[in-house]
Amino acid sequence: MRPQLCLTLTGSTLDEDLQILNNYRSQVDMAELRVDFLEDEEKSKVSAFPQMAGVPCILTIRRTIDGGKWEASEECRSALFEKIFSECDELESSNNFAFVDFEEDFHSVILETAAKATGARIIRSVHDFEKPVTDIIERVKSLQNGTDEIAKIAFMPLGLKDVTNLFQQAAQLEGDHILLAMGPYGIPSRILAAKLGNYLTFTSPAAANSLGNLAHLDPVTMNEIYHFRQITKDTAIYGITGFPLAATSSPKLHNDGYKLHNMDAVYVPVKAEHVEEALEFNKTVNLTGMSVTIPHKEKVMPMLVEISSEVKEIGACNTIVKRADGWHGYNTDAPGFTRALKEFLGVENLKGRKVAVIGAGGAACAIIYAIKKLGAETCIFNRTVSKAETLAKKFDCEYAGLDESVLPKLKEYSEIIVQTTSKGMNSAEPANADNDPIFFYDFDGHEQIYDIVYVPEVTPVMGRAAAAGCRVCNGFDMLRYQGYEQFDLFTGVKY
Ligand code: NAP
Repeated sequence: MRPQLCLTLTGSTLDEDLQILNNYRSQVDMAELRVDFLEDEEKSKVSAFPQMAGVPCILTIRRTIDGGKWEASEECRSALFEKIFSECDELESSNNFAFVDFEEDFHSVILETAAKATGARIIRSVHDFEKPVTDIIERVKSLQNGTDEIAKIAFMPLGLKDVTNLFQQAAQLEGDHILLAMGPYGIPSRILAAKLGNYLTFTSPAAANSLGNLAHLDPVTMNEIYHFRQITKDTAIYGITGFPLAATSSPKLHNDGYKLHNMDAVYVPVKAEHVEEALEFNKTVNLTGMSVTIPHKEKVMPMLVEISSEVKEIGACNTIVKRADGWHGYNTDAPGFTRALKEFLGVENLKGRKVAVIGAGGAACAIIYAIKKLGAETCIFNRTVSKAETLAKKFDCEYAGLDESVLPKLKEYSEIIVQTTSKGMNSAEPANADNDPIFFYDFDGHEQIYDIVYVPEVTPVMGRAAAAGCRVCNGFDMLRYQGYEQFDLFTGVKY
């Protein structure tokens, strides 16, 4: 059986919870009612909820020590459980809670008997919000304790290695269980619930932030980006690693591709502080193709059995593929940028053309490599002149700083300007000296501006250039095309 997708409901009233469930009804299989989030007067009406919900429900009254909001005494909590079970429908168990969550240290023969009499199955849970649980196999056995209870372990990993350990040990487990690593490191444990053999995985509404630190994904993301319901133990796994690996649009691009080509595959974010940890995770879950982003693009190189000529020349690897003899490294930023720039300019090469590259960071390396391959003369302009100089020596081009003193040089190279700094990224303001790296330069309309940044869609420098009559383009196509190249490398199929 595939893992069930369970929506955790943390509304303050039952009506609010029902409304939230209705918003996601087609996306989930079941719901967890977090009674500890309800207003006091609502808590007395809880037994009616499963019938209102019309899906299997988990009854959870989570104590503060386990990360919940139940502050009253254990006697009060037991009394509420007892009341809920006593009000259950004796004739129709589908009107009752299908599951009840009792913590590892909460044992009450009376309540367990009462719960079972209403048709509820016990989830026996452990939560650690501070540190990882490492002895997974022993702990699951002890939670199950020879009964048909579902063992649940949820913990906060300190790094990816704790998540890897979870996957390693899960492979040896029997019986129903729910294993979850919380927080951003743990996202693979939610998406790859089928690989963990999990009975269910938890999701939250997109807007819910009461559970934000748990890094629940919302049901729409689970289904529409990760195709959660199609993932089985046999599904091929690919992913992206980086640190801190914040927002990335790569999962959507790759997962859309698998769907388009009817492939049984999934692409997941694998946050790793150290790239070695990502490779260990890959080995454990049999992940065979990975996008590599900041800050691992250089550090991954010594771990590869072979690197492409592009990786060698650029000095950065953004794609690794597992073959029989080990990991092979590629750089798809350069071909992705080449394709996007050629399309934008409507040319096949840049022979006899001059190109200004603004910035000398990691992305600039691949871009200068690509521009040189297209045959252009290049000048690199960077705030830290020494970095521009290093790149200029490497790729045999000119370099300069990034202030008014370089205006004559920038004018000389102004026909095509490729902006690669992060200065305008995420800026919603019109161009100014703080978000536009060449604010000192006045466009006259003849320039063509390719900005590799794509958030916002129109970056400050693009907006200013377009207002002066220049043709402009953002970096979204570069991102897309480098992803297509990765897709080809991972799967052997053209995107
Ligand atoms: P990086 O290695 O950190 O380099 C950052 C560059 O921006 C450096 O040249 C840095 O200059 C410059 N910079 C940063 N703040 C500045 C400021 N206030 N004033 C002037 N220059 C400043 O980053 P990266 O990997 O090259 O990425 C750069 C940008 O490209 C990011 O926004 C990233 O999202 C985007 N990107 C897009 C794609 C795509 O597919 N479209 C691919 C890769 C990257 P200094 O050397 O003086 O610090």
